[in-house]
Amino acid sequence: SSAAPAMAEAAMAARVPPDEDGDECLPQYRHLLCPDLLQGQVAFITGGGSGIGFRIAEIFMRHGCRTVIASRNLQRVAEASKKLVAATGQQCLPLCIDVRQPQTIAAAVDEALQEFQRIDILINGAAGNFLCPASALSFNAFKTVIDIDTLGTFNTSKVLFEKYFRDHGGVIVNITATLSYRGQALQVHAGAAKAAIDAMTRHLAVEWGPNNIRVNSLAPGPISGTEGFRRLGGKFAEKSNQFSVIPLQRAGNKTEIAHSALYLASPLSSYVTGTTLVVDGGSWLTSPNSFSALLGIASSSAK
Ligand code: NAP
Repeated sequence: SSAAPAMAEAAMAARVPPDEDGDECLPQYRHLLCPDLLQGQVAFITGGGSGIGFRIAEIFMRHGCRTVIASRNLQRVAEASKKLVAATGQQCLPLCIDVRQPQTIAAAVDEALQEFQRIDILINGAAGNFLCPASALSFNAFKTVIDIDTLGTFNTSKVLFEKYFRDHGGVIVNITATLSYRGQALQVHAGAAKAAIDAMTRHLAVEWGPNNIRVNSLAPGPISGTEGFRRLGGKFAEKSNQFSVIPLQRAGNKTEIAHSALYLASPLSSYVTGTTLVVDGGSWLTSPNSFSALLGIASSSAK
């Protein structure tokens, strides 16, 4: 359409890094930071086989980092790993874990340490979410989201602490959300789960700071080309032009989140701990929190 070149031009002017919609590596990448920023380091990324976690793995690898990408579906992380290695020339070890089961995390961390002899960075990205009013949410559905997001983040952080970070230091980045800031409708489960993680970020930053471990949260807004975006009505919002209420007038992309994760994981943020970096184009300040509009999205996107 004729809008496309104008959009591309606007994006260039705003210096928005380009992104790919699916779980594919970027066809080209222009470094904004030193390409050896994470040289020699190793990152353990839960949920690294898809969406935001996949792009974080790619951008870290493009900065010299080796990665471990871990989630429940081994085939998914194995395929993602092949793409990441091909695009970046760095090593990537795909492993199977369920963050609800500490023994699977312990086995994966042992395997990662055997392969790389070190882990410098933990990205807690594994999560589950869907739109559902509290009145229709089953007891089990609420529990499952808390299990994966909140307990999963604690389990993985504690295993990494015991097996490596306590003695060597490290950096933890928890991927959270802004849902609880204004009590987002249809999101009591994910909002409560992510708010608890933001609290955990501060508690662990306090307790583990003396071990030279930094702990921060990164809270994305609506990010295009992700499962979260699709499930939470992002396409609907795009079509109905609802992004015009966001101060930056658009959804964010995965590369923008990965760049913020790179800041938090690297020595660029060496004195930053116990805080939450919101990366949402100002969205939570101005976006509507309409129960009825979101109910419409929930019923139209239900399968
Ligand atoms: P996604 O692709 O669905 O990422 C979630 C990942 O978590 C998947 O790779 C999934 O892999 C993994 N996972 C789920 N349950 C797991 C478990 N029990 N154990 C281990 N891994 C598990 O979604 P995304 O949208 O990119 O989201 C990534 C992160 O960003 C999430 O923390 C999400 O809450 C956050 N976020 C996203 C947005 C957005 O607009 N997309 C906005 C705010 C926050 P398997 O299925 O293979 O296990």
